[in-house]
Amino acid sequence: MPKNQNTSAQRAREAARRGAKYTQALRSGAELPPAAGDDGFGGHEFQYESRTDLFRCTECRMYEVTARDVPDGDPIRPCKGLPGWGGDTEQVYLLVTENPELPSGYGAAFATRIRDTGIGRPPRYSWRDGRMLVESVPGVVGELARLVEGITFTVDGRQVPAVSSVEHLTVGAGRAIIAENRAAYAAKYGEPA
Ligand SMILES: [Zn+2]
Repeated sequence: MPKNQNTSAQRAREAARRGAKYTQALRSGAELPPAAGDDGFGGHEFQYESRTDLFRCTECRMYEVTARDVPDGDPIRPCKGLPGWGGDTEQVYLLVTENPELPSGYGAAFATRIRDTGIGRPPRYSWRDGRMLVESVPGVVGELARLVEGITFTVDGRQVPAVSSVEHLTVGAGRAIIAENRAAYAAKYGEPA
């Protein structure tokens, strides 16, 4: 599952990354696979903001024009991640197993609840076979794990926990799972451009 909701603006953005005219993509609403990991965006997740007519990172809230306002030849300013991370860029991961009692179709709502904590985010290619990877930083990952364990959904009038287990992973182990998931995605849908 792509980490962001598939808004038409985001699809347009993905199309723009691939050189398509983005207004045209906005109109057609073309469905495109998520982009590859390190793609020159410095870890930012830029999305179109209609109020300002600019692209803005959904994580650190920096505008793309600001991130790219660097001397010629310098790389883009890297993303600091979520404000709740306090600028800590040393990432760790939680591997969350979906509660099998939960009916299917809760993936997007669950990802939203994760983001609503303000201290965790599902990265690209985070979701596969009922397990989701959640990115965070060491200072708040314990709190995040408690919050995730407490997430419930109302199903047929009763509260059902969203997850059955939460496992702590190092950055290396987390990235390895992202790579596996990305490979599985590519095998199923074709290599992302
Ligand atoms: Zn950012």
